[in-house]
Amino acid sequence: MSEHLPVLITGGAGYIGSHAVHAFVAAGHPVVVLDDLSTGQRDAVPDTVPFVEGNVGDAALVSATIRDHAIAAVVHFAGSVSVPESVADPLKYYRNNSGVSRDLIQSCVDTGVRHFIFSSTAAVYGIPDKVPVLEDAPTVPINPYGTSKLMTEWVLRDTAEAHDFNYVALRYFNVAGADPQGRTGQRSASPTHLIEVAIKTAQGLRAQMEVFGEDFDTPDGTGVRDYIHVADLAEAHVLALRHLHGGGRTATLNLGNQQGFSVREVIEAVQRISGHPIQVKTAPRRAGDPACLVADASTARRLLGWRPQRADLDTQITDAWRWQQSRLTEGT
Ligand code: UDP
Repeated sequence: MSEHLPVLITGGAGYIGSHAVHAFVAAGHPVVVLDDLSTGQRDAVPDTVPFVEGNVGDAALVSATIRDHAIAAVVHFAGSVSVPESVADPLKYYRNNSGVSRDLIQSCVDTGVRHFIFSSTAAVYGIPDKVPVLEDAPTVPINPYGTSKLMTEWVLRDTAEAHDFNYVALRYFNVAGADPQGRTGQRSASPTHLIEVAIKTAQGLRAQMEVFGEDFDTPDGTGVRDYIHVADLAEAHVLALRHLHGGGRTATLNLGNQQGFSVREVIEAVQRISGHPIQVKTAPRRAGDPACLVADASTARRLLGWRPQRADLDTQITDAWRWQQSRLTEGT
């Protein structure tokens, strides 16, 4: 079999998925995107990449796509991504992140797709006892988003035991930045993630932003997170597939930069890099938010040979700022 397995990327029209499309194409893989465009944008996928519009839970469509394109691996990004939304609408998360993922895994088993890369999250840890967090820390999510992703990790674990099927589940910490070449970036209809909200405020698209909680047990009282550049994250998926294809074992791996930044520090960095003041208001803690999440990602580095190229927070914010500025001038 060729070194460059044909890959189906679900959610390839979304923020992280569209970066992964570029990374897999650059690595020489034939790529097909499956996306229902519920949040993704058709034009985030290059014209040269075959695009199938539909849901990962549509078994007939998924099986036909796998057969038509001789797909050998699935990289699964499609899903819902907001912690506060998951608290307000848990059933949406148990459908989009758990139920249809199970159906997609069934389609893989039925069609003989043996390799699966899954987009999981640090939210599976809940409030960790120790930071940096290692992969063997207890998984006790405190919001439906984390639970919905953990359920899919369990489906993968049991499927790999029962079938000729292996996987890498990647637990992302906080994803930031945009394609350094400006081809794609974050395009949320109603942003909730910190850096995107701060940038929209710096751009004058919002009058002010809120800091959710200043009474956490952290150095400045605001929440601490480990930010990872989306291009580094995308590259880890390419390496994860190389690992499986090379005979590597199933694995669950953290992806982060092992350094925490507080909400206040992030907002200050966005002000400095953008050159615009950001009006900030203190608000109560947001439901489902842990105080501090920082990765120990040494296993991914060791097992995959992963070396983040854009670990620096300023680089991540600079790329995100450039992207959001380019959207402004395009008027979209
Ligand atoms: N946050 C904030 N104001 C916002 C958005 C986020 O204070 O408008 C905080 C949030 O409470 C958390 C951190 O920023 O401490 C990162 O939140 P985000 O939603 O970006 O990612 P999460 O860690 O929830 O996946």
